[in-house]
Amino acid sequence: MEQKSIKEQIGLLIGLQAIDAQIYVLSKEKASMPGHLRSIDEMLELKKTDIKQAEDNLKNTQLKLKEKEGSLQQKEEQIKKLQGQLYTLKTNKEYSTMLTEIEGIKVDNSLTEEDILKFMDEIEFAKKKISEEKELFKVEEANAQKERDNINLKAKEIDSRLSELNEKRNNIAPSIEKHVISRYEKILKNKDGLAMVHIEDGSCGGCHLNLPPQVISEVKLREDVIVCGSCLRILYIDDNVEIS
Ligand SMILES: [Zn+2]
Repeated sequence: MEQKSIKEQIGLLIGLQAIDAQIYVLSKEKASMPGHLRSIDEMLELKKTDIKQAEDNLKNTQLKLKEKEGSLQQKEEQIKKLQGQLYTLKTNKEYSTMLTEIEGIKVDNSLTEEDILKFMDEIEFAKKKISEEKELFKVEEANAQKERDNINLKAKEIDSRLSELNEKRNNIAPSIEKHVISRYEKILKNKDGLAMVHIEDGSCGGCHLNLPPQVISEVKLREDVIVCGSCLRILYIDDNVEIS
């Protein structure tokens, strides 16, 4: 392969940077996708757990209701039994003692009835809420699926765009000397995909540090790879820009 001058190589690096900037952005977007997909799944799991919890609570309340209903029935039967026995009693004392006992059970029962009504209200409310949550979940699940499909489609688009860009890159990269390109790639990796920066108004386009005129002149000559003293990115200056 024909040996390129540093001037030509810097020109190639500028072209490469334009490609690598796109590769950087697309790769970063692609790298964020698995996390995005995971967070969608986690959000759905969380909602599912909430619904499951509400259903468990409902079951629990239904059990408590059943217990109260059972105990009420038992006590009602006890009252009937005692009332049946009332007329077999021999003394007034026995009679009034049993009446007091029956009254006591009736008071208990009215409290139990209040509990039963309270549990029935709770159950009705919980059932309504659960069915609303389930409907909402169906919508959220469908939306999540749409979102997943979009992400997967976008990932495919990014892949094909990346392979185009890498092909372009491979057409340029071999023309640059190994030590030059490896230096460039190292900066690219360490500086968020930006290794080549042009000089704007006498300062570095990467970190905006003011550059000494001597550095700017050297950059303009393109006889060597000149880096910014602060951010260490490779500096260049557009050929058609006049330097004062
Ligand atoms: Zn800089």
